[in-house]
Amino acid sequence: MTSLLKLENCKVRYGAVEAVRGINLEIRKGEIVALLGANGAGKSSTMNAIAGLTPVAEGKVWFEGRDITDLDPEEIPISGLTLSPEGRRVFGTLSVDDNLRMGAYAIRDKASIQTARERVFDLFPILAERRNQYAGTLSGGQQQMLAIGRALMCNPRLLLLDEPSLGLAPLIVEQVFVLIEKLRDEGSTIFLVEQNVTGALQIADRAYMMASGLIRSEGTAEEMRTGDMAASYLVGH
Ligand code: ATP
Repeated sequence: MTSLLKLENCKVRYGAVEAVRGINLEIRKGEIVALLGANGAGKSSTMNAIAGLTPVAEGKVWFEGRDITDLDPEEIPISGLTLSPEGRRVFGTLSVDDNLRMGAYAIRDKASIQTARERVFDLFPILAERRNQYAGTLSGGQQQMLAIGRALMCNPRLLLLDEPSLGLAPLIVEQVFVLIEKLRDEGSTIFLVEQNVTGALQIADRAYMMASGLIRSEGTAEEMRTGDMAASYLVGH
């Protein structure tokens, strides 16, 4: 399988704190890969560094063979990679439709924006129904759908999702996971941060387990489900 994203010895620092301490990982085309680990393990720092929101202190980020380590955050979606950040940050005082349009800021071609918008409405019929409503009036689950929809507006070849299940009711979490699988089945590649280890390993092809800024184990979802690291993590939580 073709490698889409590659991290080489990446480090992220906040002043004296080294949140990511030199990690290597690879995402191949067509996969769902989960990045697992407890609070503070460095998962969001890794995602934000890939998306250009946090500087990479050392190491390299390669996307489709191109060095994107030092690209500005607004250039990253143009290169084909978007992040739906933790905490489903939708613009509450803008309509659903305007939130989606903002997701397409990197796209100049109006027809492509229209096609992306229709795809989002196909994936999330509830967003089509509520397209003129303020995003702040949506339920938590619907806001999460909107946050994912917004990230899809640039037609990314790689979608990064930071904790899409956070704070959602179990039934909604299940719907979000089903949707992520559907996106993969339609050809997207997804890199997913999750604290919901059981749910993530049900849909992921492979997973990396992070602790204290390092990758502690990696493998297929099956290996991670049965491996010592996953077991100790699950017991500890
Ligand atoms: P969570 O699930 O809680 O978001 P995480 O695995 O995503 O956890 P990070 O948010 O990447 O972990 O945090 C890794 C470490 O970096 C933590 O010790 C955290 O306190 C620290 N950290 C994160 N962001 C900052 C920041 N902006 N300034 C200083 N330290 C930070």
